[in-house]
Amino acid sequence: MNVDGARLLVVAPHADDESIGSGGLIARAIRTGGSCRVFTMRIEHDRRRDELGDAAHQLGFQSWISQRSRTPVDERDSFEMVAEIEQVIGVDEPDIVVMPHYGHAHQEHRATANAVLAACRPNSGSDRFRPPVVLVAEQPNDVWSLGERPRIQWSIELTPEDLQAKIDAVLCHSSQVRPAPSERSIDAIRSLAALRGSQVGSPLAEAYEVVRWHQAA
Ligand SMILES: [Zn+2]
Repeated sequence: MNVDGARLLVVAPHADDESIGSGGLIARAIRTGGSCRVFTMRIEHDRRRDELGDAAHQLGFQSWISQRSRTPVDERDSFEMVAEIEQVIGVDEPDIVVMPHYGHAHQEHRATANAVLAACRPNSGSDRFRPPVVLVAEQPNDVWSLGERPRIQWSIELTPEDLQAKIDAVLCHSSQVRPAPSERSIDAIRSLAALRGSQVGSPLAEAYEVVRWHQAA
């Protein structure tokens, strides 16, 4: 799977999920000549919108916000959400789509994951663009779930600079960052990167579950 120069689409339930789960992948793709769109499903407050803007500037991704609303993602019309994500995929034709963890404790993460899964369905016979690679991102708090956790199947080595870019982006979401030992702490981000790195013989890594990995002819 080649990330260098890739077009990414990261579908995030909230402002901050893109940086916590995929900040390293975004940094790597963009510094190697690729691009990234982050599609955020819901933003309720101006502060969160501004923080997302700062993170976009920090990492260099394009931001597209689905809705600014109090209505939780899991209470939205699912057909409408899938159609929105299909539209973004059709416009961007991304090489890699990243979704949140489908078993996450937060119901809006689960609803977002289900919508991305539907939007990326095979649907053979249609001319709808099907992203060749679909990944599930990991966050430090994914262990809080009823048995289902992302199955770590693929990871990308992070340079110290990539990890710092990720941390700097997470710090842009200052309303969401907590001191250690919170799972929302920078210590937790660093620790997970070190753990995933140690499992593959790299100093630092960011890990994913693979939903689809198709190599075209
Ligand atoms: Zn979230």
